[in-house]
Amino acid sequence: MTRPSPEVQNLAIFPPDSGGRPSTGSDMASVFDPERFRENISNIAPRLERYLADRSTRGLDLVDPAVLTKAARGLMTTERDRIADFDADRLNQIVDLYTGTGIHVYSPGYMGRQFSGVVPLAGLVDLVSSVVNQPSTFYEAGQLPNVAERLMAEELGRLIGWDPGRLAMVTTSGGSLANLTALLAARNRAFPGMLAGGAAGVRDGIPAVAVSEEVHYSVTRAAGVLGVGERQIVRLPVDRSGRVRADRVAPALDAAHRRGLRVFCLVASAGTTSMGAFDPLAELAAVTRPRGIWLHVDGAHGASLLVSRRHRDRLRGIEHADSLAWDAHKMLFVPAPCTLLFYRDGAAARGAFGRPPGGRGASYVFDEEPDVYSALDSGDQNFECTKRPMIMPLWTLWAVYGPALFERKIDRLCATTRHAFRMLRAEPDFDVLHEPEANILCFRYRPADLEPSALHRLQLAVRHRLRGDGRFFVSKVDVGGVAALRVVLMNHRIGTAHLAQLITEIRTTGQRVLREEAAAPGPRAERSPR
Ligand SMILES: *Cc1c(COP(=O)(O)O)cnc(C)c1O
Repeated sequence: MTRPSPEVQNLAIFPPDSGGRPSTGSDMASVFDPERFRENISNIAPRLERYLADRSTRGLDLVDPAVLTKAARGLMTTERDRIADFDADRLNQIVDLYTGTGIHVYSPGYMGRQFSGVVPLAGLVDLVSSVVNQPSTFYEAGQLPNVAERLMAEELGRLIGWDPGRLAMVTTSGGSLANLTALLAARNRAFPGMLAGGAAGVRDGIPAVAVSEEVHYSVTRAAGVLGVGERQIVRLPVDRSGRVRADRVAPALDAAHRRGLRVFCLVASAGTTSMGAFDPLAELAAVTRPRGIWLHVDGAHGASLLVSRRHRDRLRGIEHADSLAWDAHKMLFVPAPCTLLFYRDGAAARGAFGRPPGGRGASYVFDEEPDVYSALDSGDQNFECTKRPMIMPLWTLWAVYGPALFERKIDRLCATTRHAFRMLRAEPDFDVLHEPEANILCFRYRPADLEPSALHRLQLAVRHRLRGDGRFFVSKVDVGGVAALRVVLMNHRIGTAHLAQLITEIRTTGQRVLREEAAAPGPRAERSPR
């Protein structure tokens, strides 16, 4: 099913030796030459412009890794003793290979994942970040990034509704690390003895967490990292839309308590990954607060809805949470990773890692006497030491365009997803599994005469073929143990015509699969996608 993309097929493998002309090699000065840098930019910029201008409907041309490896290896200099001569053509081919392979994130045919085409200006700022290389953990290394973090904490903190004088925000390399960091802070608040004593410092019950059945896998992984085992994870049942059933939470916590567990954190989702479901935060907070349980909200996908006046109500009750993970590289359309981890109480943010012991350990970065500069350091609150100044693209977009850019785009995506819901509901051979709460929608292709036992495999086969055909890239997810097709609409250019074409292609593909299965009975081995 996979075939090399045209770019790869046409790729002339770079000749290892440029026409036999004697190489004198580059010197250090030319490698670092600013003029060379400008030339390279003016060379690459039109290539990226063409890339961005491509509006064709195409999802993914999956290239055989052996073919791609061969093409990439062919672009590597064989020079070993000298610094190789710079060859602009080699660079061009590398850029062409890069932009020509992978998911076409700006295409309206790409509906499969939560990362997307970024606001192009954000990419430009990322280039600046890469050149000036100012890691943001310590103020002295990245002054503007650290100030920009503070400014974005104010701006977004206002949308959360937390006391600006009390809240804290730290950027982390991805939502998974934000979830781990928040869980650690929660655990250390409940079990302060563990900072010094580890497992021997545990008092009053075995540390446990409560999570939705639909929780992102990074949360249960994070629990594992903290030494919270599978048996100490309390799973909260969800309704048909994937939301935690608030009425079942107190009984589940009581049952856990009787088993000797001490739940120190309940993780709610503001936008589950599979269906985009928003847990009832106010109702959950009403259960966790009186019990002293930390409420962490995994808003990696959906926290961005706070920017939209129309949709922010999905996070009703967020003001009662203790922490919130918010991926800007999802619904704020900046390059990955850019995650913001918010704490309602800034003091709790320092609880995650404890204070570095004075005099010993990390004396190379932690100042003994804090001042106005080190006050902006985040080294005591994040796991990373050297950290990308990931806030810069986001802050720049916010500075240049203001919040309305994000609000417009989010409103548009949610409206398009609702539209897709209505279109699919009107098709007799499609099952829509839920009303979309944001921009994620799950459905199945299900012709009337289909045997129930064939439903699961049909979705996998359709998804796999669709990807192979290269026009649409959708994902799959199990809902109630049966595979479903899932679209995540991240591109504001997706319109009715694209959705209609998607529906037609799924139907045509599904019928083709069924025809072939009927012609060759017996279990078919349509490999499920990775
Ligand atoms: C994407 C996602 C994550 C993981 O975030 P990364 O930035 O990919 O590490 C966690 N939780 C939810 C709900 C997500 O959608």
